[in-house]
Amino acid sequence: MEFRDLKKQYQLHKAQIDAAIQEVVDGTHFILGPQVALLEKELAQYTGTKHCIACGNGTDALQLALMAWEIGEGDAVFVPDFTFFSSGEVVPLTGAVPVFVDVEKDTYNISADSLRGAIEYVIRNTDLRPRVVVAVDLFGRPADYQAIRQIADQYGLLLLEDGAQSFGGMADGRKTCSFGDISTTSFFPSKPLGCYGDGGAVFTDNEEWAKRLASLRLHGKGSDKYDNVRIGMNSRLDTIQAAVLLQKLGFLEEELEACGQVAAKYTECLKDAVQTPADLGNMRSAWAQYTICLRDTKERERVIAQMKADGIPSAVYYKKPMHRQDAFAAKLIEAVPCENTEYICARCLSLPFHPYLQEAEIEAVCESIKSAVMR
Ligand SMILES: *Cc1c(COP(=O)(O)O)cnc(C)c1O
Repeated sequence: MEFRDLKKQYQLHKAQIDAAIQEVVDGTHFILGPQVALLEKELAQYTGTKHCIACGNGTDALQLALMAWEIGEGDAVFVPDFTFFSSGEVVPLTGAVPVFVDVEKDTYNISADSLRGAIEYVIRNTDLRPRVVVAVDLFGRPADYQAIRQIADQYGLLLLEDGAQSFGGMADGRKTCSFGDISTTSFFPSKPLGCYGDGGAVFTDNEEWAKRLASLRLHGKGSDKYDNVRIGMNSRLDTIQAAVLLQKLGFLEEELEACGQVAAKYTECLKDAVQTPADLGNMRSAWAQYTICLRDTKERERVIAQMKADGIPSAVYYKKPMHRQDAFAAKLIEAVPCENTEYICARCLSLPFHPYLQEAEIEAVCESIKSAVMR
């Protein structure tokens, strides 16, 4: 059993993907070719945003957003404590300081109460200017944007949506990657919309920021590539990746539909044995991961061992809270307790998950987990 089966998808759509790649090779316009511009148009349309700027990967996308806002020394950026390293890594790269905020125990997403507490702490106890809140749609589930937007407005913060795991997700009838003042995503192969290498994109409705982002991804270009008006990055999407993504966008809805069904089967089978993902209400998750919580770390170890013995892969996303990563130690500001993050890191476990998972495979995973939990 594969943790995320990328082979099945390719086999199913091989002819069209191969042809799209071949077309790029024949055209030899390998960087920022015509497929990149077309993809940006289609991604903007899909997400309901005015501008999409494709770039090298999801980490660069976050950094480009902070650079477009000229975030730097003396600025505080609020980041969930439970997320992939990138969400916080980009903050010190700009010279700003990350302030880690706790998440909700059931949704794994940033907690509005904890965010408020962290902002108040920074205002009262530091010389930093609160500037940005990064909301991550963890495991594909949209963050609570009504609550987060209200707090951002109240304190004059910019809202950056890290939609690396949530492309295709929905809330309040809107697609993810449209909730931030700037939003970003990743096309890393195992993400909900993945390419065949590294890729990412930035989304915004603001024309001035969009122009700046397009400049920043190409060495801070002015009127052309050899006229440089600001310090930027080399972060472009290659044309082959764009060609693959254009094909995959065509069957994304179908895959998301199938993901919803796989998740529902898992939840039905596991809900009495373990903590399953929180109810989505009228939201749609992009299901980057299906993540459960066990009773304690010992039980998790037992489940992992049982699954391994049964030939079933699993993964712990994430073992370590951001505030415990050595990389942040030098400038750590412990503004709020992050007890929910500690709780989740000690207990979470992500299960094999992809749109092509078979009923029998789902049952085998559930039986394996249940046998280890009941013991
Ligand atoms: C994967 C991921 C990123 C980074 O994307 P890359 O394309 O790998 O650079 C950023 N944030 C989150 C939450 C992610 O899961």
